Amino acid sequence: MAAFSIRNLEKRYPGAPVPALRDFSLEVGSGELVAIVGPSGCGKSTLLRMLAGLEAETAGEIRLGERVLTGLPPKDRDLALMFQSYTLLPHLSVEENLAFGLKLRGEPRPSRLEKARAIAKTLGIESLLRRLPSEISGGERQRAALGRAILRSPAAFLFDEPLSSLDAQMRLQLRVEIQRLHQRVRVPMLFVTHDQGEALTLGDRVVVLDRGVMQQVASPEELYRRPANAFVASFIGAPGMNLFKGRIETNENGSARFVSPALSYDLTPAQTAAIKPHTAITVGLRPEHLRRADASEALLRGEVTAVERQAGQATLYVQSGDVSFAARVGEDFSARPGDFSGWTFDPAAVSLFAGPGETRIDL
Ligand code: ADP
Repeated sequence: MAAFSIRNLEKRYPGAPVPALRDFSLEVGSGELVAIVGPSGCGKSTLLRMLAGLEAETAGEIRLGERVLTGLPPKDRDLALMFQSYTLLPHLSVEENLAFGLKLRGEPRPSRLEKARAIAKTLGIESLLRRLPSEISGGERQRAALGRAILRSPAAFLFDEPLSSLDAQMRLQLRVEIQRLHQRVRVPMLFVTHDQGEALTLGDRVVVLDRGVMQQVASPEELYRRPANAFVASFIGAPGMNLFKGRIETNENGSARFVSPALSYDLTPAQTAAIKPHTAITVGLRPEHLRRADASEALLRGEVTAVERQAGQATLYVQSGDVSFAARVGEDFSARPGDFSGWTFDPAAVSLFAGPGETRIDL
C-alpha cells in the first residue's frame, strides 16, 4: 500500500503577515498513524485541508505512493476525511449513510447493505441502522461517519479533531475504535488534535507544530523523554515539563553549577562537558522527577498553592518567588495549599535547553 509523502508544503493566506504553515515535510508509511498536535492556530487544520484538497497550497508537493495529489480536486484524491462535526447526510438513514460510498461506486444493493450491517456491528451501532442522523447521539454519529469512511476503503485516512465534540467516555471508546481500525487497515493515517494526551495515545509518531513550524517528529516515548526544545517540553505532558531559566557559573573547585532564582544545582560531569560556562540555559524537569526533601537537602523550595488529585497520585503546584512548578506525588502525600515544601531530584534526569530556539543540548 502507498505511503504519504509531503514535501516542503507551505501555506500563506492572502494578506497574512506570516505563513500558516512553513516548509513542512513528512513521510507517513502505509499502516502508520501519525498524530499532528499543537496549540490553536498552529496550522494543523490548514495542513489537513491542503492534504484533502480543500485548500490550495502556496508551495510544495503531496504524493500518495506514485500519485501526485497536489492540484487534484478532493474527490479524485481517494482519501477519507473525518471532521469534528459529523458529515452524515441528514435525510438518509444510518444504514444508507454507511452504504452511500459503495452506492456511488456502483456496488449492488444486497452486497452494500450487507457490508453496512457488518461494519455497524463492528462499531456497535447495528441497532440504529433505521434511524436518521438527527435521531442518534453525537458519539453514534461519529461512529457512523467512521463506518462510512471505512467502507469506502480509501487510500488514506485524515482525521481533523474527530473526537473533540464528544464527552470523555465516548471519546475513549472511539479512540479504541480508531486504534482497532489502525491495526486492521494498512493505509496511512493522519490524526490532528490539540490534545497532547490523545496524540501520545494514538500516534505511532507524533508531530508537534507551533506557529506553522514543525518542532519535532518522534515516537511518543522519544517526545516525552527527549523533547527537541523547551516548547515541546512544556507542551507535552500534563502538566508539561517544568522550565527554569538561569545561567551556568563556575564553582571555586572548577566544577559547573546551574544558578536560577528558584533552583540551583551542581551539573553532572556529562552536563559540564557539554556546556560552556556563563551561558544562559533553561533546565527542564518533569513533575515526576521531583521528590520531597528536608529543608537542608532541598534544591527547590516553595509554597504549595494547589493540589490536584488524580487516580493513585496527585500533582502539587508550588510557587517559589516568581517561579511556579508542578510536582507529582503518590496518593499517600501530605500537603495542603499554604504548606512549605522542599524538593530534590536526580541531576542526570534533567533536560537542558540553550540558544535562541531553546533547543535541546544532547549529552
Ligand atoms: P489550527 O488548526 O492549528 O488551530 P489553522 O490551520 O486553522 O490552525 O490556522 C493556522 C493559521 O492560519 C492561524 O493563524 C489562522 O488564523 C490562519 N488561518 C486559517 N484559515 C485562514 C483563512 N481562511 N484565511 C486567513 N487566515 C487563516
